[in-house]
Amino acid sequence: MTPLHDLIADEIRRSGPISVARYMELCLLHPEHGYYATRDPFGAAGDFITAPEISQIFGELLGLWLGQCWLDQGAPSPFTLAEIGPGRGTLMADARRAMRVVPGMGEAALLHLIEASPHLRAMQRKTLGDVTHLTDVSALPEAPLFLVANEFFDALPIRQFQRGAKGWAERLIGLEDGRLSFGLGPFMDLDLPGGEGEVIERCPAASAIMAELARRIAAHGGAALIVDYGGWNGRGDTFQALSGHRPVDPLEAPGEADLTAHVDFAPLAAVADAEGCAVGYITQGQLLLGLGIEMRAEKLAASGDETAIGAARRLTHGDEMGELFKALAIWPRNAPPPAGFQPAPRGAVADTER
Ligand code: SAH
Repeated sequence: MTPLHDLIADEIRRSGPISVARYMELCLLHPEHGYYATRDPFGAAGDFITAPEISQIFGELLGLWLGQCWLDQGAPSPFTLAEIGPGRGTLMADARRAMRVVPGMGEAALLHLIEASPHLRAMQRKTLGDVTHLTDVSALPEAPLFLVANEFFDALPIRQFQRGAKGWAERLIGLEDGRLSFGLGPFMDLDLPGGEGEVIERCPAASAIMAELARRIAAHGGAALIVDYGGWNGRGDTFQALSGHRPVDPLEAPGEADLTAHVDFAPLAAVADAEGCAVGYITQGQLLLGLGIEMRAEKLAASGDETAIGAARRLTHGDEMGELFKALAIWPRNAPPPAGFQPAPRGAVADTER
């Protein structure tokens, strides 16, 4: 039993079963015992490895992508350069290095990092120097915004609903013989298709964040690139826990495993569309191949980097990260589409259920 287990059990005894969202929030962000608050989960020794930690090429290509968007929109100065959930700061360090080929961009950029974990904020300051840290995207300046987020949205708290014999009910976490266990709340009047036993997920926090980004980008210019694993109108239970690179029971050791859910990009695209942005959606493989990952990997290999070719394959191949991971971009409707993206037909985006 972890210290957080006891705190959660107390909360359930006091006020009843909690939502999956509340559980995720406590496990990931509890100031004392939360997963991100207490550790550096990345890399080979950690619980999972992310694209920027696999290869410097990932951050470099995203940096060049941002640079191209910035030039295409007339090089606004000053502008907000931002990342949500920067982890160790590796992606932004690689991106900023690559952006140096874009004259004037570094001087015009005001770097803002949105990060909840004090521990990771300290790491990011070490990697990136003096940066402005924010807790919430709603505090971002009202200015042109060029933003990236990798493996951030999967960490946002989801609610789950399951269809029982009588209708839909929220999946809740309660106590059974002193142990955390899943159950169902009262039946709800939800108008959703689905057969008995089916689970659907909703992530209200993700939509709220997307609305803040899209409103700024539509009003002041800019672009956002969201990379994560997930799909379009996904269904089913994707709530998962990882510890030491292996899947574990999400209720097993609260605060000690990484908890995530697949990102559903369709409602995020719908929100961005409603806020006035153009939207494009492709796989990570398509994005990185389109941005020239193979050429860059060969160049690094020629200069003695023995891991570059393998890393490029891992990031782009369909059997590895290339298809499970997707990239969603948003930009102003009157600006050219960012490198690698075509605007999705508006009807296809706006009709999605939110
Ligand atoms: N982008 C990094 C790290 C991904 S892990 C990489 O690719 O390696 C998720 C990151 O989001 C961590 O930095 C975590 O502390 C942060 N995070 C999670 N939930 C958050 C929230 N609600 N608000 C701000 N940051 C959050």
